[in-house]
Amino acid sequence: MAGLCAAAHARALGATPVVYEKGARAGGSMLLSSCVIWRFREWDDYRAECPTGDERLQRTVWERLDDGIAWLESLGAPVVRHETGNPRTIGKRFDPRGLTEVLVAAAGDVRLEETTDEPAILATGGFQGSPELVAEHIDPGGRLRLRANPWSTGDGLRYGLDRGAQLSAGMNEFYGRNMPDADFTEAQFVPLAQLYGRVARVFNERGEEFFGGEVSWSENDLVQATARQPDALAWYLLDNAGFADAEVKTRLALASTRTDPAKLPFAAPPDTIVAVRVKPGITHTIGGLRIDEHARAADGLYAAGADVGGISTGGYASGLAAALVFGRIAAESALDSL
Ligand SMILES: Cc1cc2nc3c(=O)[nH]c(=O)nc-3n(C[C@H](O)[C@H](O)[C@H](O)COP(=O)(O)OP(=O)(O)OC[C@H]3O[C@@H](n4cnc5c(N)ncnc54)[C@H](O)[C@@H]3O)c2cc1C
Repeated sequence: MAGLCAAAHARALGATPVVYEKGARAGGSMLLSSCVIWRFREWDDYRAECPTGDERLQRTVWERLDDGIAWLESLGAPVVRHETGNPRTIGKRFDPRGLTEVLVAAAGDVRLEETTDEPAILATGGFQGSPELVAEHIDPGGRLRLRANPWSTGDGLRYGLDRGAQLSAGMNEFYGRNMPDADFTEAQFVPLAQLYGRVARVFNERGEEFFGGEVSWSENDLVQATARQPDALAWYLLDNAGFADAEVKTRLALASTRTDPAKLPFAAPPDTIVAVRVKPGITHTIGGLRIDEHARAADGLYAAGADVGGISTGGYASGLAAALVFGRIAAESALDSL
């Protein structure tokens, strides 16, 4: 997302950018996403939801996102829904394939399965695809499953650090979904997400109920807490009331790790009617390179998207929104510096 936005914007400003794309196709995780590009409606909500994020970067995303969305629409990106469905947020849902095609056309020169040693803008999508970097920075209790494109393995992070960039806050944080602890395909990233931790009782393998308090609306706090458990595993236990929810039933029906409560490795509460073994699927890292409001990571080097960290630390906010806003800013800054 960020690299294509940077190139499309740079081209409109008169430059001739090249997008080096490591993958076999364009669009990265954006193409796999639900493609809701959003911000909190109220600034105070953003600060409250992501309290440890860099306030200057948050302010930039919050103030420039509407303009960014209007720009995508002006390029012809197809909007599927003109609101997010969440009263606390504002934004639009795009068709990910249509958005990718429009951005590739606007970016111009996109070279698949090529990388470069001399990037001006880092936009490699974070380090969730590298088990080594995930172990080093996030340090989960077991290996996480990947719920993202396979090519974002921290190349931008490594390159930026070599060039003198600094790490952001929140290097141990990530965004993801608890998924059935079994193999899944890209097409299952969205439908298989077990997004009902709020109505479940949640235990680890030792039978400890490890999550205290209310689960947040995004459930990202529960997902990150699951990652810290032995083997990065949890059990969602449902009673009749939880199972009555139609959406919960649909998601449960797809979960191959659905288990008879009598077969759990610990004694389940007597009212449990079904259990599901889940493991976090990591979607993108929240920590990364530190940038300023001009997307500058180091001398003559700019970064955007999930290569940048410290924006939504302490919570969760739209990764596509940050990629769109800072992708465009990175293009402006890189051109200004020439
Ligand atoms: C299932 C799913 C649902 C999601 N839903 C939403 C949603 O509704 N709303 C939202 O805001 N976010 C959502 N996201 C997250 C969103 O997709 C990411 O935050 C966003 O794509 C990050 O943008 P990016 O440009 O940093 O990374 P990407 O879009 O992944 O692009 C990074 C690109 O860099 C390439 N690359 C990696 N290394 C190199 C290299 N060395 N050289 C050249 N190219 C390289 C990759 O192949 C990739 O194409 C979702 C993600 C998933 C997987």
